[in-house]
Amino acid sequence: MNSGKGRLIVTVDGPSGVGKTTLAGRLAKHLGVARLDTGAMYRGAAWALGARLMEMTSEQRASRLAGLRFDLRGAGEDTQLTLNGEPLPPEIRSETVGLLASDAATLPEVRAFQKAAQQALGREHDLVAEGRDMGVNVFPHAPHKFFLDASPEVRAARRVDQFKAMGLPADLEEIAEQMRRRDVQDRTRALDPLRPAVDALIIDTSLIGVDAVLSAMLAALGEGAGGSY
Ligand code: C5P
Repeated sequence: MNSGKGRLIVTVDGPSGVGKTTLAGRLAKHLGVARLDTGAMYRGAAWALGARLMEMTSEQRASRLAGLRFDLRGAGEDTQLTLNGEPLPPEIRSETVGLLASDAATLPEVRAFQKAAQQALGREHDLVAEGRDMGVNVFPHAPHKFFLDASPEVRAARRVDQFKAMGLPADLEEIAEQMRRRDVQDRTRALDPLRPAVDALIIDTSLIGVDAVLSAMLAALGEGAGGSY
């Protein structure tokens, strides 16, 4: 699907545990386009630079980032994001890498690198782009923007389920506390804090299931609720 005037870009922003990745994947499948998981890009870059990335100088980080290249293959939930030609390892999903990614995401050279890489992917592919600053900062001219939210309790419980499904250890209290720390940092940082674009449709996913949220998103896109999603 392409408007003819440029690539189709739909943005989906929100904090962790609101169902962004699932919904962006389902929406991308319905539209026949790629999903861009920008959280995975922040996690992948943090993982590649290593646990001591916050101790490096800006120049050291910038030169390490210059050696990273992200690519996309496929569409919908099966979209594959690669880093220097390799799939990202499962350990990027741990809260340790999540916190490191959140620390790194406060740094100007990291944000500039990610924005340029994400916009380059948006020139090559039609996308459902999900993250924190897609609608406000990376794709401000996207015609369709969504912001998903949910209560902290629901988000922590969903995260526990995701971890269990991946076979990772999951302690509700610990995960809730790590999410809270990451949330405060993501919402209050000076550069590109998490916030809805003024033209985003805000959907609270606390009490409604994935199918209902997807229907609301498709209705907003003028796609109707029919079809094989
Ligand atoms: O979405 P996910 O939890 O995988 O993102 C990991 C971290 O990457 C976030 O906590 C946030 O600090 C950062 N991030 C960001 N901007 C994005 C996507 C993720 O700052 N567009």
